Amino acid sequence: MKITVSDIEKEGLVLDLQETSLINASLKTVGPIEAHLEIHRYEEEVSVTGNIKGHLLLQCSRCLVDFQHDVDIKVELLYEPLSVSSTEESYEIHKEETNISFYQNDEIDIADLISEQILLNIPMKPLCDSQCKGLCPHCGVDMNLQSCDCNEQYIDPRLIKLQTLLSRKE
Ligand SMILES: [Zn+2]
Ligand SMILES: [Zn+2]
Repeated sequence: MKITVSDIEKEGLVLDLQETSLINASLKTVGPIEAHLEIHRYEEEVSVTGNIKGHLLLQCSRCLVDFQHDVDIKVELLYEPLSVSSTEESYEIHKEETNISFYQNDEIDIADLISEQILLNIPMKPLCDSQCKGLCPHCGVDMNLQSCDCNEQYIDPRLIKLQTLLSRKE
């Protein structure tokens, strides 16, 4: 959903949303994402505060199992109109330095805002558990569920070749 900036009244705007479909198709959610947002406008500057809660389905970077990740994000954003004169480059730098977001055409897309905030809060390497043992790099067994004896018996594939070569000579 989009809000029109110039329509925001003096007393502000309170949004209680339940987003069932997020913009980003790579985000899998369990149930709706709930957002409580308070929006205030000061001339052309818009502040958005509130929180975003929900459950995501992430894939563990170690064992590749899907697991539920709870999201509870505190939102504190400042939006400024993106001036036509600013180039793409300075916009990127500016954004990084100040953590200010920009809106264009008198509009802020709230669904975008929610998706962005969630994406920013997803861990780089999601883990189903900090103790996750992952998959055996040799036989692929999920070491949380099974054990394998690769550790003891594992031989570098290049060595196996060498071994067979050596055994042929014998
Ligand atoms: Zn895992
Ligand atoms: Zn193994």
